[in-house]
Amino acid sequence: MRQIYRVDAAFGQTGRMDAAWNQENADFRQKSVSYQEEKHMVTAVVGANWGDEGKGKITDMLADEADIVIRFQGGANAGHTIVNNYGKFALHTLPSGVFHSHITNIIGNGVALDIPKVIGELKSITDRNVPAPKLMISDRAQMVMPYHVLFDQYEEERLGKNSFGSTKSGIAPFYSDKYAKIGFQVSELFDDEVLEEKVQKVCELKNVLFVNLYHQEPLDPKDLLNTLHEYRDMVAPYVGNVSEFLYQAVKEGKNILLEGQLGSLRDPDHGIYPYTTSSSPLAGYGCVGAGVSPRDMTDIVCVTKAYSSCVGAGAFVSKLEGAAGDELRRRGGDAGEFGATTGRARDVGWFDAVATRYGVMVQGATQVVLTNLDVLGYLDEIPVCVAYEVDGKQITEFPATPTLMRCKPVYVKLPGWKCDIRGVKSYDELPENCRKYVEFIENACGVPIKMVSNGPKRHEVLYR
Ligand code: GDP
Repeated sequence: MRQIYRVDAAFGQTGRMDAAWNQENADFRQKSVSYQEEKHMVTAVVGANWGDEGKGKITDMLADEADIVIRFQGGANAGHTIVNNYGKFALHTLPSGVFHSHITNIIGNGVALDIPKVIGELKSITDRNVPAPKLMISDRAQMVMPYHVLFDQYEEERLGKNSFGSTKSGIAPFYSDKYAKIGFQVSELFDDEVLEEKVQKVCELKNVLFVNLYHQEPLDPKDLLNTLHEYRDMVAPYVGNVSEFLYQAVKEGKNILLEGQLGSLRDPDHGIYPYTTSSSPLAGYGCVGAGVSPRDMTDIVCVTKAYSSCVGAGAFVSKLEGAAGDELRRRGGDAGEFGATTGRARDVGWFDAVATRYGVMVQGATQVVLTNLDVLGYLDEIPVCVAYEVDGKQITEFPATPTLMRCKPVYVKLPGWKCDIRGVKSYDELPENCRKYVEFIENACGVPIKMVSNGPKRHEVLYR
C-alpha cells in the first residue's frame, strides 16, 4: 500500500495525487469498516509530531468503548487538554479514561511516576465532582524522586543558553537513573530493608554531584526515607501487578486503549535528538511501557493537527514567525496554542507533510486522525510544507538532526474554505476545499484519515 512520495510538477508538487492512487485509496477505505464497527483488542493512540496533536480528546472519545486506558511512558512534564461534561481539564499523568466510571485507568511501568503529583491530580478532578476513578499503578513503575527535580533545575541552570528546554520536572534525570539501574521501583517502597539500604547508597552517589558540581547542600538519607514512607502510604491503595492484569484482560477480550504522550519527533531514537523526550512515545514502546504483548496490538491511531505546533527546543522547519504566526497561535486549539502543563506559548507553523509522513511511518499507524481542522477556516490560502530544501536539493525524507537544522520549507498553497466548520456533523457536508485539504494530507501521509476533528469537544468529530 505504500506509495512513493515525490515532489515534481507532474504530481502537483506532492505525493501520488494520480487517479490510480485515489481509486486505490477509495477502495481501501470502502473495505475498511468504520472504527466503531471493528473489533478492537489493543489500540494505541499516539502523536505523529512534536506532541499536542489533540490525543487527549481522541482518547477521551474512544474511551467510551474501552474497558481499560493505560499511560505507558513519560511523566507529568506534558499534558492533555480534555473538554467534557464536567468542564475543561489538563491531565498530566492520569490516563484520559478517568472521566468514565466503567474504565480501569492504569499508570504503566514505563511512566515516570511522580507520586505527589498523581495524587494531587486525582484530588483536583474529584474536587470538581468527577466520581473517583478506578486507578491502578504498576508495581514496576519507577518514581520521580525529589532530587530528580532538583538535578533537572540545576543542570538547566548550569547549561544556561545551551539548555534543552526541559520542563524541569525531573524526567531526564529520572530516566537516566532508571537505565543506570539506580532508580526506585514502586515495589521497593514495600520492603523496608531494601529501601533503607538503597537510599543510603544513592544519597552517597548523588551527593558527589550535589556538593561538588552544583555547590548545593547534600541530601539527608533520613529525610529521603521519610519522604518515601509518605509516598508509600499515598500510593498503596492503587498498586498492582499490571502485566498479569492485562494478560487476563486480553484473554477476556477486553477493549484496551494505550495512551501516548508527546509524539514521534520527540522519540529519543527516531526523533530530533537531543531535543527529544527521555522515553519513547512510539506505539512500539507502548507494549513495553504498558505490559502487553506486541502480538495483541491491533490498531495504531496516529493523531496529527491540520497545522503544526511545537513546544520546546529543536528544529521546526515550517515554523511561522511574526503576525501570521501570532494569529494562528491565537486561533489554535480551544483557547490558543499554549502548553497544557507549562502554559508556554507553542510555536506554530503550516502543516509539515515531510515530518508528519515520517511521524506516521515510525508509529506504524493503521489510521490517522486529523484534529483542529476548524482552526484554519479564516485563511484564503493554506500553505503546506511538502518538501525541505537543503544543500541545493529538495528532499522529502525526514533527515536526522544535523541536516534537519539546515532545512528550509518548500510550500504548496491550497485554497482555503473561508467558513466556520464547527457544528458540521458529517464529512460529506464539509466545504469542497476543506475535503480537498484533508485528502491532500491523507495522500501525503500515505495512511487513511478515518476521523477529522472539527472542534475541541468530545463529539466534534467526523468519521470517514
Ligand atoms: P495532546 O497532548 O495531544 O492531547 O494535545 P493538547 O491537549 O495539549 O493540545 C491540543 C489542543 O487542541 C487542546 O487545546 C485541545 O482542546 C484542542 N483541540 C483538540 N481537537 C481540536 C479540534 O478539533 N479543534 C480545536 N479548535 N481544538 C481542538
